[in-house]
Amino acid sequence: MFELPEYLTIAAQLNETITGKIIFEGRLGNSPHKFVWYNRKPEEFTELTRGKKVGEATVRGRWLFLPIQPGYVFLLGECGGKVLFHPEGAKLPEKYHLLFKFQDESAITVMTQMWGAMELFEAGKEQDRQYVKNMRTTPVELGFTFDYFNLLLDGLVQGEKRSIKSLLTQDQLIPGMGNSIAQDIMFRAGLHPKHLINELDTHQRERLFIAITSTVQTVVEEGGRYDEIDLFGNPGGYLRIMDNKSAGQPCPVCGTTIEKIQYLGGACYFCPNCQL
Ligand SMILES: [Zn+2]
Repeated sequence: MFELPEYLTIAAQLNETITGKIIFEGRLGNSPHKFVWYNRKPEEFTELTRGKKVGEATVRGRWLFLPIQPGYVFLLGECGGKVLFHPEGAKLPEKYHLLFKFQDESAITVMTQMWGAMELFEAGKEQDRQYVKNMRTTPVELGFTFDYFNLLLDGLVQGEKRSIKSLLTQDQLIPGMGNSIAQDIMFRAGLHPKHLINELDTHQRERLFIAITSTVQTVVEEGGRYDEIDLFGNPGGYLRIMDNKSAGQPCPVCGTTIEKIQYLGGACYFCPNCQL
C-alpha cells in the first residue's frame, strides 16, 4: 500500500509528466473489483473528463488530488498497486481500474492492489469527503511541530489505552502513515509496538517525534520504499530496516535477533533489545 512518501513521489512525477495535458478519454476500470470505490458511472466519468486539462497534483495523507480543469478534482485515495505513465505508442496494460488517455497519445493507468478510491468531485466538494474532511495535520506539514505532537498525545491518553503501533497505523491519527513505515519509525524511536502511549515520558515522546519526521523525510527524499513502484515502474530507493526480510536476522544496532509478531492487523518486526 502506498503511504505518504509514495503518494508524494507519484504526485511530483505526475506534475513533471502530465500537468497541462488534455484528456482525450477518461475511463473507469475494465477489471471489476469490489474494493475499488468509484462515485461515478463509467459513461458519466468519461463524459465529465473529456477535453479537460490536468492541473497540478497535491497530496494530503494518503490522498492525491488531481485537478481536472475546469470544474473537477479527481481523488486517488488509500490505494496501493500501480499508477503508471505510458508514453505515446507504449502498449497499455490489458487490465486497469482507471485510465486517462491524453490528446498527445500518452496515458496513465491505475491498478490498485487491495482497495482504493478513484472518485471525481466538483471542485471544492472533494474536501467534504469522509477521511479528507477534518484530516489531522500530516508529518510533512509545517504545523506538525513537537508542540502539536504533544497536544495530540495529551488528547489521546485521555481516551482508551493506545499503543505506539495503534498511534502510527490506526484511525489516521497521523495521516499518511501505515504499517510499513511504522516499523522503521518504531525501530528508530527505540519503542516496542505494544508500548502504551500513556507511558511515554518526555524524552520518549521526543524520540518518537524525531523518528516520525526524520523517517518520513528520508523516505520522501529517496522516492518511496523499495517495495513499491513509481510512475515509471521503478522501485523506490528507500530500503526498509524492519520488514519481512529482517525477521530472524541480527539487529543492525545490537545484533539481537529481530522478532516478528502479528499485532493489530499486520506483522510487526522489532528488536527485543533496542525496542522497549
Ligand atoms: Zn537491537
